[in-house]
Amino acid sequence: AKAEGAGSTTVFDAAMHDRVRERIELEVSLRQALESGQLSVAYQPIVDLATGVPAGAEALVRWTHPERGPISPATFIPIAEEAGLITALGDFVRQESLRQLGEWRADGTVGDAFYVSINVSGRQLTDPRLALMVSSEILRYGVPARCVAIEMTESVLVDASGVPGRVLFELRELGCQVLIDDFGTGFSALGYLRRFPITGIKIDRSFVIGLGQSPEDDEIVRAVVTMSYALGLTVIAEGVETRLQRDALAAVGVTRGQGWLWGPAVPPAEFARHWHVAGTA
Ligand code: C2E
Ligand code: CA
Ligand code: CA
Ligand code: CA
Repeated sequence: AKAEGAGSTTVFDAAMHDRVRERIELEVSLRQALESGQLSVAYQPIVDLATGVPAGAEALVRWTHPERGPISPATFIPIAEEAGLITALGDFVRQESLRQLGEWRADGTVGDAFYVSINVSGRQLTDPRLALMVSSEILRYGVPARCVAIEMTESVLVDASGVPGRVLFELRELGCQVLIDDFGTGFSALGYLRRFPITGIKIDRSFVIGLGQSPEDDEIVRAVVTMSYALGLTVIAEGVETRLQRDALAAVGVTRGQGWLWGPAVPPAEFARHWHVAGTA
């Protein structure tokens, strides 16, 4: 039994060793990716349910590893956070997407109200320069602040006292939208809706999946929407894949959705080609 125990410990150590090595390798290549331009930004339309016209787009980072091909942000964002690379990554995504929005506004791909929604992780909100950088970038690229949305998860707000809180108020003061991402998946109470200058929520895909089929999901979303509108918040439904879901969302008063029903995140040229005419609304 003793030998067996020792054996399985060795196997465990080997597996753990592989995982650690894998993580370090990814960290090293991510560092190189940031420096050598392997990262890009893809855009997923955020669509007006009634018209099917995009009101904006979410900017989602993409990484194509030279040997391994595309790596999911769900894999490398946590590594970027732990390795202290998230600020550089976030700077890249923000600058690139604001530059792109400026270009699309100038060439008529999108209309005057079209906005870009940018993900920030908690670590980025501890950077006191964030609002200053946004304000200088929107000047540089000729983008109004109302066309910039910043998305963060509820968990970021649980302990967002100090600098993160101040940065949010500064962004709001500038005129940016402040959105709660993955709404409903955090374990926090709703107090942050009063404490921080939130302008809207994005209902997580997990609540959208059963819409039109599960009366409970319909009621949860209906209650969330009623509360949000009473508080003056905008509402976006995430992960909309079917017309059944879209119709159930419209029935409870949701006006904006995002999901494969309209299209995945795509490179900017493809986004412009696909959405050009519609986007000028
Ligand atoms: P998220 O912010 O919740 O983004 C939505 C994710 O759902 C995206 O995955 C998107 O491609 C996917 N999605 C969109 N529509 C559908 C649908 O109809 N069905 C399904 N099943 N999925 C859909 P993606 O691009 O892999 O991003 C994963 C996560 O990585 C994001 O989740 C976000 O948390 C993080 N992330 C992505 N880009 C950035 C970034 O620039 N900065 C930071 N801090 N995080 C990012
Ligand atoms: Ca998001
Ligand atoms: Ca989300
Ligand atoms: Ca998510």
